[in-house]
Amino acid sequence: MSKKPLLEFNQFGIYCQQGDFYIDPWKPVNYAVITHAHSDHARWGNKHYLAHHLSKEILKYRLGDISLETIAYNQSIIRNGVKISLHPAGHIIGSAQVRVEYEGEVWVVSGDYKLEDDGISTPFEPVKCHSFISECTFGMPVYTWKPQQEIFMGINDWWHENHQQGKTSVLVGYSLGKAQRILQNLNLDIGKVYTHGVIQNTHDALIKNGISLKETYKITASTTKEEIKGNLVLCPPSAVGTPWMKKLNPYSFGYCSGWMAIRGAKRRRAADRGFVLSDHADWHGLIQAIEATSCESVYLTHGYTASFSRYLREIGYDAHEANTLYGDESLEEEKGGEA
Ligand SMILES: [Zn+2]
Ligand SMILES: [Zn+2]
Repeated sequence: MSKKPLLEFNQFGIYCQQGDFYIDPWKPVNYAVITHAHSDHARWGNKHYLAHHLSKEILKYRLGDISLETIAYNQSIIRNGVKISLHPAGHIIGSAQVRVEYEGEVWVVSGDYKLEDDGISTPFEPVKCHSFISECTFGMPVYTWKPQQEIFMGINDWWHENHQQGKTSVLVGYSLGKAQRILQNLNLDIGKVYTHGVIQNTHDALIKNGISLKETYKITASTTKEEIKGNLVLCPPSAVGTPWMKKLNPYSFGYCSGWMAIRGAKRRRAADRGFVLSDHADWHGLIQAIEATSCESVYLTHGYTASFSRYLREIGYDAHEANTLYGDESLEEEKGGEA
């Protein structure tokens, strides 16, 4: 009889039978270890949650009054002999890879990750393992990111130009992660930063969790157009094309997403400017991360799983596609739900 793998994929999520817990389950379970607070990974309805300290307030804001235990990076807990620990994933504030160890066998679930240090998330740390369950959202060579400083320079230049023309800069990025990353890199000598309510609520939850962010002003019913003019407005993908956004006229509309490398959805095509900025690893980042684990087996959960697993097999990995319900936060938000 062959040994049962330490982690397996079933209809609820990524399951560890020995420790009786799930990682980022997509259906309600008894015990859920959460890699990060994005809506496709942290879902409603689980009985108990385990996550990183820095995910605490944002999970409570998004999921309500849940039973939640939080731990630090590199801290571990034991469930029925299985050691569970969290390690920085560099994706957003509080994002973690989950390391699972039992009788000398080690698996790591990456969650979403990126290798570039964004200055607000604890930087990605490779974790050695036998089996690595990885995302591959941008697992195609066409997705090769430029250094972030170049992108931020482009954003600030664009804002400055709009400011001089008396236009408001409306910048779209998903509310948890991207919005804060952009904010921290904006040049506030140009003007003020206003926020859509969803983004301000997300900022507030993070601030409550001890994160410090640059100053922003929430747009309310009493905010006038004159007040906003020439300044920058951060808003989520779901605001694109809404009457709320139209009221900001005259404006220039910029969109920040890894998907801007190809432009696809209507909401993104409508943008005056695209900024290719992603919180996921690019093609090279994925390969570098996988190599750094020294793993033998790789399971790919979301993204270009078919072509990427084929490539990994060509270079000698035992690579598999896994069927999961993970998606991409920015695409979720494009569909309209706050998430
Ligand atoms: Zn994510
Ligand atoms: Zn994801």
